[in-house]
Amino acid sequence: MIALVFGILGLIVGSFLNVVILRHRARMLGGRSACMSCGRTLRWYDLVPVFSWVALGGRCRICRASISVQYPLVEGMTGILFAFVGVALVPLFVNHGMATLFLLLDYLAIASLLIAIAAYDLRHTIIPDEWVYSCAFLALVSQFSLVPLQADPLSILIAGPLVAMPLYLLWFVSKGTWMGFGDVKLALGMGWLLGIQNGLLALFLAFIIGGIVSMPLLFFSSGAWRTIVAKFIPYHLWLTSGKGFTMKSEVPFGPFLIMSTIGVWFAVLSSIQLNFFFFL
Ligand SMILES: [Zn+2]
Repeated sequence: MIALVFGILGLIVGSFLNVVILRHRARMLGGRSACMSCGRTLRWYDLVPVFSWVALGGRCRICRASISVQYPLVEGMTGILFAFVGVALVPLFVNHGMATLFLLLDYLAIASLLIAIAAYDLRHTIIPDEWVYSCAFLALVSQFSLVPLQADPLSILIAGPLVAMPLYLLWFVSKGTWMGFGDVKLALGMGWLLGIQNGLLALFLAFIIGGIVSMPLLFFSSGAWRTIVAKFIPYHLWLTSGKGFTMKSEVPFGPFLIMSTIGVWFAVLSSIQLNFFFFL
């Protein structure tokens, strides 16, 4: 029941996040949603999170232009995250009341920001400063609202910079070609959200996931692959198929960082009811 209520809340917040991601630095937030292709104003039944997209087969009802899979993905992911946070924290209300409410809202905001950052980074390979700094700040606040504190205040404070340090060095050494500075700021929030140990664990996992996903992308963008393919597919078809990646195609690291952060965060939240708030 808790999962259902929070899941639905997450779907609604997710569809709002889609609007924010789409219109950030592009248009004002106001105005009704319209099809990007034909400009037709969408009806309420076109805007039901996830379900409308699935029912319409990912196409506009009027002009049949395809609608980005980003919409249902962002909505679905937000729904899942909200359900998870709700299930982990709501049972604590019985004993801890207001403190739990504060942490719950803080966590829901962090979850929303993580999703928005991942989607925006995928679209534009850049992370908006105000989102990533808000995320880091809320993460730090969450650590100090856990009762009892999970570590001494000093280790809580240095967790962020410490987890960000490896990425900062990579960014510094490569002069920003291996790693964007946005990823460094993101890792700051990871450290504050998860603590030193789990933060470094999530960082490590991000490199593994990133490696597994990027390797085929890099391979298919290599000259060797293109020579092989050219033997079988006429080159002009290959170029127009739009399936090829060029060497320049930049794989953003932010989504991998966020994926691993969410994984580790979930693992911690699952065990949170056992040890957290234990001494109150
Ligand atoms: Zn349309």
